[in-house]
Amino acid sequence: MDTHIRSVREHRLDREAGAIVYPVISRRSRGLSIGINLFPDQKLCSFDCPYCEVFPFTTDLRFSLKAMEQGLRQLAVSLKSGETGGIDAVRDISFSGNGEPTMHPDFIPALELAAQLRMELFPKAKLVLITNGSGLLDPAMTDYLARSARNECKMVRQPAMKGSAGVEPERGLLEIWLKIDAGTEAWYKKINRSAIPFQALNEAINAFAVGAPFIIQTMICKIDGKLPPQEEVSAWEQRVRVLLERALERAPQSDFKGGQAQQGPQRVQLYGKARPAPEDPLTEPAAETYLIERRDSLARALAPYSIPIEVFP
Ligand code: SF4
Repeated sequence: MDTHIRSVREHRLDREAGAIVYPVISRRSRGLSIGINLFPDQKLCSFDCPYCEVFPFTTDLRFSLKAMEQGLRQLAVSLKSGETGGIDAVRDISFSGNGEPTMHPDFIPALELAAQLRMELFPKAKLVLITNGSGLLDPAMTDYLARSARNECKMVRQPAMKGSAGVEPERGLLEIWLKIDAGTEAWYKKINRSAIPFQALNEAINAFAVGAPFIIQTMICKIDGKLPPQEEVSAWEQRVRVLLERALERAPQSDFKGGQAQQGPQRVQLYGKARPAPEDPLTEPAAETYLIERRDSLARALAPYSIPIEVFP
């Protein structure tokens, strides 16, 4: 396995070559992340985001639990002997890759195996799922993810852990990074272009917010040369506020920590377009100043609540 650690701009090269396990320096992880790609053969996703960085490719490789385990073990050996800070430098093991992880039939076995291997090989790393939320339309998946995020799953229950370099999982063992790019159906149709009805997806995420902690991730970019209209910005801010309020209303008093609910959104990450996409120039990066304006606007819209809002231009 090529264990060369690529930058955030290059790691698609590994995935398009069929890598199941790929190390990458990640801006949102703020360091070394190990990606798990369940789709080494071809992209599979329930969304069709125009900013998606997955270029057309096909390989005859298939995901297998054995190959994932071999890849993680091999990477641990390489990191131990390399000059990259060793295994303690790994901040997370992240299920992402060429599509929506929850759509893969082996997603749950892979997650549980990765949880076990994390304890053995990378005990200071978090386990992360990057998802567009479409798996939440399946009640069984919703229940599984909620229990995993609350650290209640039989297979993934672990002793409390401290992450490397001051990193701690938000709650539980599995940290869920949930894509919420749009507040209006009109923008959803432009930025996610999914066949999944907007309202059905929102309702599923609303229900999830009552019982599980997650991190909201939102792509902010121009589409067809235009930034999202003000109506969209206001609706998206309202969407975040509703999720926060639902979690706070439903949480029993004992479930509060520092004024923040233990369930629902724990932080918001606004990120810009940093990588090339096959549909360029349909989408273009927004200026960093605009992302900062959006952060400040969201903070005002959420008052008097306060959750961390991060910007990754
Ligand atoms: S959800 Fe992710 S993988 Fe799917 S199309 Fe959008 S950016 Fe690509």
